[in-house]
Amino acid sequence: MADKKKKEEHFCYYCGEKIAEDDLVKKKIPLHGRSGIRMYTRKFHRDCLKEYLVKNNDEEKLLAETDDWAEVYEYFKHQILNLDEGKNLSPHAVNRLQGLRVGQYMRSAINTRALKRGYPYKVILNTLKYSKRNIDYAVKHKNFKSEKHKIDYIMVIVQNNINFIQKRMDDLAHQREKVEKLKKEEVTTTQGAAYKRKGTGRRKVVLC
Ligand SMILES: [Zn+2]
Repeated sequence: MADKKKKEEHFCYYCGEKIAEDDLVKKKIPLHGRSGIRMYTRKFHRDCLKEYLVKNNDEEKLLAETDDWAEVYEYFKHQILNLDEGKNLSPHAVNRLQGLRVGQYMRSAINTRALKRGYPYKVILNTLKYSKRNIDYAVKHKNFKSEKHKIDYIMVIVQNNINFIQKRMDDLAHQREKVEKLKKEEVTTTQGAAYKRKGTGRRKVVLC
């Protein structure tokens, strides 16, 4: 029996997960590159495309993510690498940090905002802060062959810690959600009690 042509695997641009053939949708997406904006066809899960389009139209969220990226950039530049004000991060450092954002080793042919895949910049920033002591120690005691070698070494430390930080931030968010829910329930029961005390049972009270 002749081998059938190997089935092509599709991965979602938004969440990075595999897409089943019947759930696959394609859309042209503008990519901001060095030579301006170009359109590329990208594959999505049906629901992921909807989410992606909503998020991309949410200018406020996009701007917030830009601010988060700026913070990561500044922290890496000043606190991790001790670069002077006038200097910029090397393209390699930028690509590695943005790669973390989108779940790639190096960022390539992909926008870095409004995607669910990879790690949010807030998580990256907290991981940098959490790893700083380790990084400082390594930078002080190791001989690096090059700037690139140094960055890659730092990124290994960051990658080793990032899942731990993501989990910790998720747990915190869940706890906060729980507290908010409890607060809401408390308000509703207090209101209910007040209503019972005040109400005569004859009048219809409309709460608005
Ligand atoms: Zn998806």
